Amino acid sequence: MRHRIAVVGSGPAGLAFARVLHRHDYPVAVLERDPAPDTRPPGGTLDLHEGLGQLALDKAGLLAEFRELSRPEGQAMRILDADGTVLRDWQPRPGDRANPEIDRGQLRDLLLGPLDVRWGQGVREVAPGTRDGVPVRFEDGRQETFDLVVGADGAWSRVRPAVSSAMPHYTGVTFVETSLDDVDTRHPDLARLVGDGSLAVYGVNRALVAQRNSGGHVKVYAQFRAPLDRHTNPDRQIDPNRRADPDPADVEAVRSSLLALFDGWAAPVLDLLRHGTAFVHRPLHVLPVSHTWAHVPGVTLLGDAAHLMPPLGAGANLAMLDGAELAESVAAAAPGLGALDEAVRAFEERMWARAGRWAQITTAGLERLVSPDPTEALALFDEVQPS
Ligand SMILES: Cc1cc2nc3c(=O)[nH]c(=O)nc-3n(C[C@H](O)[C@H](O)[C@H](O)COP(=O)(O)OP(=O)(O)OC[C@H]3O[C@@H](n4cnc5c(N)ncnc54)[C@H](O)[C@@H]3O)c2cc1C
Repeated sequence: MRHRIAVVGSGPAGLAFARVLHRHDYPVAVLERDPAPDTRPPGGTLDLHEGLGQLALDKAGLLAEFRELSRPEGQAMRILDADGTVLRDWQPRPGDRANPEIDRGQLRDLLLGPLDVRWGQGVREVAPGTRDGVPVRFEDGRQETFDLVVGADGAWSRVRPAVSSAMPHYTGVTFVETSLDDVDTRHPDLARLVGDGSLAVYGVNRALVAQRNSGGHVKVYAQFRAPLDRHTNPDRQIDPNRRADPDPADVEAVRSSLLALFDGWAAPVLDLLRHGTAFVHRPLHVLPVSHTWAHVPGVTLLGDAAHLMPPLGAGANLAMLDGAELAESVAAAAPGLGALDEAVRAFEERMWARAGRWAQITTAGLERLVSPDPTEALALFDEVQPS
């Protein structure tokens, strides 16, 4: 028997869930607030780990296509100190496919494939279940009832309140993202500096990270400790020199404030900020480490909605594996709502255990990467990089 299943959100979690169900010929309604797949820029590059994101793609039957699209050379990692001295320069070994990179947009299109997403269907809330099922209320006032509602709607999930009162809190670290296009022709020196993969420079309580995407595109993340209202409260200060905060809409003001924050760093490193186009402000929020909830029949969460954590290369991977594993459990469940509920309950236990481990690792990692002692960042990489 096929149950009425909805997944809210078409990010990595929701799409992996829907795509694996599709592989099992199991229908699912994918409800997405964005009016179209390309409404927002898709974001930067993601490295998909062998036992996580790649495993999810395998479950979806998409591993071979991923291998065609992904960039194993993107696993290269170079670390500089603030005066530009190269401290580490790791290159992937031939045939190393442990963590190849893929552009988010390419991954989204790969997962979307034949899926029939219901675009422009933002969910406002999920109401308590009744004998008829779990009612989903849409932003436009409509309501529809399902046997299982899966919240894969990210950090600010509208499904989460149906199972948990937890809300994300600010980590104290903000990323400001910028990007450079066509680096190989327009900024060849920066193209060489960044190389095929990532470049990272660590200073006191701040870092600059640049990552090559496909098509000569480079994303740059200025990372630093700051109050949450850095951009909204003009009385707050961003650094010990007590400079006033810039207006986020004023590109040149943001650029000069970042150049001031990284004052004294090597000129080629600062060029990443000098040539960046628009700036996007991303204060990092997280859910409590080991976030769990009392199981609620008919509703569950996946990905960031369940376990938002610092962005240290795990979130999308976990989101995809959550989605793929829940889909397999649902497809394999015996007929009847009781069996479906047991499958979801068992999945939640597995997801909580895995996500809890990663939330601890990434929370500790963020403390070391944006740290008063920059040697901590290097030590962390030495621990995780193959020698
Ligand atoms: C700067 C940065 C860099 C990162 N780098 C990496 C990395 O290298 N590797 C990695 O593994 N992870 C990385 N992450 C983390 C990763 O982006 C997330 O963990 C991942 O996107 C979570 O996927 P998701 O599907 O759970 O949620 P999301 O990707 O947030 O998708 C949620 C979807 O739900 C939709 N939605 C939201 N609300 C509603 C609603 N009410 N109704 C309907 N639809 C709704 C949204 O439009 C969206 O499509 C990074 C994060 C950041 C911020």
